Amino acid sequence: MKITFYGAAENVTGSKHLIEANGFRLLLDCGLYQGRRQETERMNRTLPFDAASIDAVILSHAHADHCGELPLLIKNGYKGRIYSTDATAEIAMLIMMDSAKIQMEDAEYLNRHQVPGAENAAPLYNEDDVTACAERFVTVAYCRKTDDWTRLTDNLRFKLYDAGHILGSSVIVVEATENGAAKTVAFTGDLGNVNVPLMRTPEPPKEKLDALLMECTYGDRNHRPFSDAGGELAAVINEALKNKSKIIVPAFSLGRTQELIYTLHKLHDEKKIPLFPIYVDSPLSVNILDVFNRHTDDFDQATWQDFGVKGETPFIFDNLTYVRTIQDSKALNGKVGPFMVISASGMAEGGRIRHHLLNSVADPNNYVLITGYQASNTLGRKLQDGVSPVNILGQSREVRAKVITLQEFSAHADQAGLLNYLSELHGLQHVYLVHTEAPQDNIFKALARSKYPALDIEIPATGMSVEI
Ligand SMILES: [Zn+2]
Repeated sequence: MKITFYGAAENVTGSKHLIEANGFRLLLDCGLYQGRRQETERMNRTLPFDAASIDAVILSHAHADHCGELPLLIKNGYKGRIYSTDATAEIAMLIMMDSAKIQMEDAEYLNRHQVPGAENAAPLYNEDDVTACAERFVTVAYCRKTDDWTRLTDNLRFKLYDAGHILGSSVIVVEATENGAAKTVAFTGDLGNVNVPLMRTPEPPKEKLDALLMECTYGDRNHRPFSDAGGELAAVINEALKNKSKIIVPAFSLGRTQELIYTLHKLHDEKKIPLFPIYVDSPLSVNILDVFNRHTDDFDQATWQDFGVKGETPFIFDNLTYVRTIQDSKALNGKVGPFMVISASGMAEGGRIRHHLLNSVADPNNYVLITGYQASNTLGRKLQDGVSPVNILGQSREVRAKVITLQEFSAHADQAGLLNYLSELHGLQHVYLVHTEAPQDNIFKALARSKYPALDIEIPATGMSVEI
């Protein structure tokens, strides 16, 4: 079996790993590269392999950096199927459609503002290209439900375990038999954090593994326990209510928004916060909510104890309003506090959150609540770092609002979680650290090597191949 690391190798986006066995070419994930604009454009526009030569794709989960290049793969001649859980298939379609819309809007904006004679900007793909993906999906149940393998050829089969990262996320186990000998490799996709709302604890494969492709986004640090987050959130809300403040929360439409709503609902039921107006202002979050409501059987046991046994959904409670139209979103600008707005994008680089920040950050009575990872150079990171003034939608704003960070909501395993996951696997020989960048990859590699000296642990470079 040959494995080639085409993306998310020495970086955290563009997940693409190719497995070749008996002439069959199996692609794990086909994600978008996300980074600085020019580099992103170059990396995403050209696939690193011939799309028509790929025989099948298995998708670990529906984040854009794992699924966002599927429309381009099909546009470039891929004729095969896309295997995933049913929740991943549904969410991936929404995420890719959202990505197509953003790309089309960006291209239109760039073409309107470009210097004369410059080359026209074009989206990587449009909504029709995304629609073409829908009929390629073949959904597969987690193996906890069936324990069956899904057969791709007589010599190649796979299983999906729950990765506990976002709804539908999977750890993919592939077994290939060549010349009578079977080899098994697992790919974690993104591995979830333990003891967070909604998601189950990541499942370790039962099979004896020859190799593991493991994400290690947070290989250099440990998260504070999630149980601390509720108390801190309640304290901010109660303070804000006293002062009739607005609380503005940038949040990723997929995952973070649902975790926040779950936590707010629970705090309210436990009488730790009173009823006050909460608005979820993100059309994608509203659509994703429908998928969450259809897949409640995938939630963890604690969520079921909190809400399922009462016949309730975590995502609906008094005074929580989902905002759909632009008019209703704009109406929030003139509304007097106290209230909370949860809106995308999570790093405040795009989406409706920018309008809410523009209207709120200059007032010292307001709050900005950061609940997710903020990449360098984003508006979210600048607010987190205390930069003032900041530029929002072309306008300068002094930041006088209080900016508070709650890191406990991470959807990724931390250092202890990754090391623990390794300890639960059987027969493992080779570990390839992917979905990571320096220095956290080297910190984790050194630590994992000292703890598991028998393991061969490598950080593959982009384009590198290994034989197992
Ligand atoms: Zn992810």
